[in-house]
Amino acid sequence: MAPSAVPTVTLNNGVEIPQLGFGVFQVPDDETAAAVTTALETGYRSIDTAAIYGNEAGVGRALAASGLPREELFVTTKLWNADQGYDDTLRAFDTSLSKLGLDYADLYLIHWPAPARDLYRASWRALERLADEGSIRAAGVSNFQPGHLARLTDGAQLIPAVNQIELHPGLQQEELRSFHAEHGIATEAWSPLAQGAVLGERVIVDLAARHGKSPAQVVLRWHLQLGNVVIPKSVTPTRVRENFDVFDFALTDEEMGALAALDRGLRTGPHPDELN
Ligand code: NDP
Repeated sequence: MAPSAVPTVTLNNGVEIPQLGFGVFQVPDDETAAAVTTALETGYRSIDTAAIYGNEAGVGRALAASGLPREELFVTTKLWNADQGYDDTLRAFDTSLSKLGLDYADLYLIHWPAPARDLYRASWRALERLADEGSIRAAGVSNFQPGHLARLTDGAQLIPAVNQIELHPGLQQEELRSFHAEHGIATEAWSPLAQGAVLGERVIVDLAARHGKSPAQVVLRWHLQLGNVVIPKSVTPTRVRENFDVFDFALTDEEMGALAALDRGLRTGPHPDELN
């Protein structure tokens, strides 16, 4: 499928993000360029990394080698907790950008609220400045709970364009998704496959058989139909391609309902109130 056929979600500042992207959490730097190259060859144009992943340089090498025009790419990176605070954020952003070999990022996220550090409001002011200067096309957050979002936006110039949160059939995040809808924040799902933990669920396996697709494809389709932005990760080329092949079938309302019943508070990562 042509990259241009991937639907986009329009962010609250008019910037468009591809609804399906490629994540590189836990991919070692020296394997990242190969994984990202496979993704770009498959048609992915949105890549999600973070300073703490230690692989921004690998992402940058693949982007440069692809020869793709910069404006066709959508690159997200994230501010690590230890770098929060106004000046530290600006410095950390420069480091990320130079590792990526880019002169702007499409989306920059505060990785975690780290509430005990109490620096996310100061960090956000730095993201507002980066957006204002054109160093980032959109500013967002990750792992923010409704209370963190309310505190962040009180008196802020910008409303986050995105909140990237853990979201999959085992953790459907109803409360945050409606908060986002109400405030014009796009929902981006991390660990969209629950790192594989939901792929053996009977309902998912049965729907996969019914549609002649894989369990991962059913889960990704469920996300797309909910309107989530998704960034599945794989270092396995067949899976990278499989995860991109999700635009030729649709789940019925009844099938979406059957998947809704799988919500059970399953977290594969830390709780945002607790990670500092
Ligand atoms: P995912 O839910 O994307 O699952 C990745 C795992 O599933 C890997 O073990 C992969 O194996 C396997 N897998 C991928 N595709 C398939 C498939 N088609 N069939 C079977 N198994 C499959 O988990 P992640 O935690 O990586 O989340 C995705 C991205 O979200 C991250 O890479 C990162 O960019 C972002 N993220 C953000 C966080 C945040 O705090 N903001 C936290 C965590 C993730 P293999 O690679 O061996 O093929």
